[in-house]
Amino acid sequence: MKPIFHHRLINSPFEDPCLYIRILREKRALLFDLGDINRLDPSGLQKITDVFVTHTHIDHFIGFDVLLRALLRRDIPLRIFGPVNIIKGIEGKLAGYTWNLIKEYPLRIEAFETDGNLIRHSGFYAENCFNRIDHEDMPFDGAVLKESYFEVRSVSLIHQIPCLGFSLKENFHINIDKAALNRMGLPVGPWLSEFKKAIRESHDESRIFKIMDKTYTMKELRGIANITEGQKISYIADSSMDKDNIEKIIALIRDSDTLYCEAYFLEEDKERALDRHHLTAKTAGMIAKEASVKNLVVMHFSPKYRGCPDAPEKEAMMEYNKR
Ligand SMILES: [Zn+2]
Ligand SMILES: [Zn+2]
Repeated sequence: MKPIFHHRLINSPFEDPCLYIRILREKRALLFDLGDINRLDPSGLQKITDVFVTHTHIDHFIGFDVLLRALLRRDIPLRIFGPVNIIKGIEGKLAGYTWNLIKEYPLRIEAFETDGNLIRHSGFYAENCFNRIDHEDMPFDGAVLKESYFEVRSVSLIHQIPCLGFSLKENFHINIDKAALNRMGLPVGPWLSEFKKAIRESHDESRIFKIMDKTYTMKELRGIANITEGQKISYIADSSMDKDNIEKIIALIRDSDTLYCEAYFLEEDKERALDRHHLTAKTAGMIAKEASVKNLVVMHFSPKYRGCPDAPEKEAMMEYNKR
C-alpha cells in the first residue's frame, strides 16, 4: 500500500511540536499545531491549506505570523481549526499589524472553532483589511473537516483550558491491481488518478472512461481496484491525565497507524505533570497500547530532560511494548 499521507515533525522533541502532513499527488499539506515553523522552506509553507491548532499556548501558536506572511499573496484560502477562543486569538494577532495596503491581496483566512457542540466560523479577508466577518454556526458531529477522501475529527480535552486532540483518517485506500490491469490490457497512466478520484467521490457505475481509444464503464473497471482500510494519523498535544481525557483520547485514536503524542514529563515527575496538566511518557505509552496504535511517536519533552534526551521515549516505549 502506497500511503497518501506523508507525515513528519518539523522540530526536535525539545522544540515546539508541529506535525507536517503532505498529501501525495496534491500540492497540499496539513499542519497540526502552529508553533515555530521556521524550518519549513517557502514551498513547504505554500502547500499548507489547513491548520489544526490544539490550543493557543505560545509554543503551539507562535508560528501564525510566519505562515501569514508567507501566504499573503496566495489565492487559495487558509483554513484554521481550533478550540474555543481561537477566533479571538486570530483576530488579536491580525490586529497587531496595520493593513491599509493589502486590499488587492487575495488571501482569505477561514477560522473555525469548536466547543464540542457546534462549530463557529469567522472569516478574515485581505480585501476587507482582515476585519472579522462572522458566518453562521454549524452543528458539530465530531469532524471538523470533511473532504471527499478523508476527514479530521477532534475531541475537546482538558489542559486546564480546552485543548483539542485530532485524528486524520483516509476514508479508504485504493490499490490498483497491476495483474488485473495487465489482464485487461490497460496501460498505467494519468487516467488512473481520474479513476481513483471517481471511486472516492462515488460516481455512478455507468461513468465512462476513455483509455487508448476504447471506452470502459466504471463497472467494467471495478475489478482493478482493491479497496483497503484507509490511513489514520492522530495527534495529541497537551492534555491533563484525568480519566475522562484518557478515555476520550483512546476512543479518538483507536487503531491509528501512527500516533504523535506528547510525553512532557517522566513518570518520576508525575506530581509535576498533574500540576502542569501534561501527560507523562508512561501514560503516552499506555494510551497507545490501549488504543492498539501501530506506531507511537513521542514528542514535546520538558527541557528538564535535555541531559537525558532518550529517557522520555524509552519510558513510553517500555509501557507501549508491555504485553
Ligand atoms: Zn499547553
Ligand atoms: Zn505545549
